[in-house]
Amino acid sequence: MDTFTSLSYLVSAVCFIMALRGLSSPETARQGVVFGMAGMALAIVTTLMSDTVEGIMLPLFGIAIGGVIGATIAKKIDMRDLPQLMAGFHSLVGLAAVFVAMAAFFNPEAYGIGTVGNIKVGSLIEMGLGAAIGAITFTGSIIAFGKLQGMISGKPVVFNGQHKLNAALGAAMLLLIFIFCGTQSTFVLLLLIAVALALGILLIIPIGGADMPVIVSMLNSYSGWAAAGIGFTLENTLLIITGALVGASGAILSYIMCKGMNRSFMNVILGGFGSDEAGANPADAAGDRPVKIGSADDAGFIMKNASSVIIIPGYGMAVAQAQHAVREMADILKAEGITVRYAIHPVAGRMPGHMNVLLAEANVPYDEVLELEDINRDFSQTDVAFVIGANDITNPAAKTDPQSPIFGMPVLDVEKAKTVLFVKRSLGTGYAGVDNPLFFNENTMMLLGDAKQMAENIIKAME
Ligand code: NDP
Repeated sequence: MDTFTSLSYLVSAVCFIMALRGLSSPETARQGVVFGMAGMALAIVTTLMSDTVEGIMLPLFGIAIGGVIGATIAKKIDMRDLPQLMAGFHSLVGLAAVFVAMAAFFNPEAYGIGTVGNIKVGSLIEMGLGAAIGAITFTGSIIAFGKLQGMISGKPVVFNGQHKLNAALGAAMLLLIFIFCGTQSTFVLLLLIAVALALGILLIIPIGGADMPVIVSMLNSYSGWAAAGIGFTLENTLLIITGALVGASGAILSYIMCKGMNRSFMNVILGGFGSDEAGANPADAAGDRPVKIGSADDAGFIMKNASSVIIIPGYGMAVAQAQHAVREMADILKAEGITVRYAIHPVAGRMPGHMNVLLAEANVPYDEVLELEDINRDFSQTDVAFVIGANDITNPAAKTDPQSPIFGMPVLDVEKAKTVLFVKRSLGTGYAGVDNPLFFNENTMMLLGDAKQMAENIIKAME
């Protein structure tokens, strides 16, 4: 690699690191995206200019087709569909890893890794691993996409001996890589890819639709490692660095999600958690416990007479796309001199940063949006906790009931506010399928209905 290429790749790598840094906060996220785009543009131009690329028309043609398709999808995509978009894109990274490994195997001279039947062992290991991880990522991401998009059932598919079968396929993959290094056989490479494709499907089918965000983040990590593997085969330092950045950040994100839910990664992988959110019948959920059910007028009156309100958004706000109405409601309260802030739980919604993205889309000022650890103590001095479409993230069972599946998960202490208003359609459970005792508290008022509709009705009532 010549000095110019090395330097350009180094600048691109720094841009990617700056991009990740920028994306860590909503204030700097746009800047982060610009860094990422600049780094990628520089990387593409440098690669096309390098003497290892023969003829730039074909790659340019590919970039044009991919770019148009990618830009069109990105422009049209609904915020709620982002997880499946990610899954769809990761499947392509996995497929690319398989194709590059095969291209390097069939034409090793072009990659400077030996001749047909006489490829360096190091390169064969990289090729085998890259192809296997890529194939798992490909089929795994397609299944994740299908479940998230509702094209296949989100229910976990489990059968006897499933984990043993997966372990056997994993062991078979390692054995095949070993044999591949010894024989350099085309049949063994194809068999390895076939086994990995099957493993990708089997790994993801037992996981419930609701756990998919963690899996998408894990597949993101796999696609990064597959890209790093290709980087070694292609002897391309930037691809190794970029792959490692994606691989490590995906792994850290999966860890953060699991920690926020107080679940181990194995618990997610083995499936069987959560419920298929069917709004439960209010009467069934309540039993003979008394529930205070209020109207939009009640809510408007209570909030207008408060001096401080904390809004707690959750998954239901995303489903109802209520963020704009919520901001409008907050604007009215602020105009009355009422302090309004937003409390964000680390796993509110279905992906990290889900609520931050929605609130930013509705132009909620960043300084009003506070993370759990920065606002949790303030509930006891707050008049109204306005919980909209959230459930698990407020459930005190996480603090008090060791038998609860969410025990140990940090939760927002909304019950400490003078009044808690809960906007949701029923008394049914949320993602974890656990009853929320707060609905029956003395200081709780349930506002049953669709989040957007209810927020709009409250606005009308206050006006
Ligand atoms: P929950 O799933 O606990 O609760 C959401 C509530 O929203 C439901 O109880 C539902 O009640 C209500 N809802 C649904 N649609 C509407 C609507 N149109 N209008 C009004 N309400 C509605 O969500 P939370 O955000 O409180 O908690 C997130 C959960 O997701 C946690 O358990 C977390 O562990 C999990 N999770 C989070 C991930 C992340 O990274 N953020 C990743 C994977 C899982 P009803 O049916 O009565 O309306």
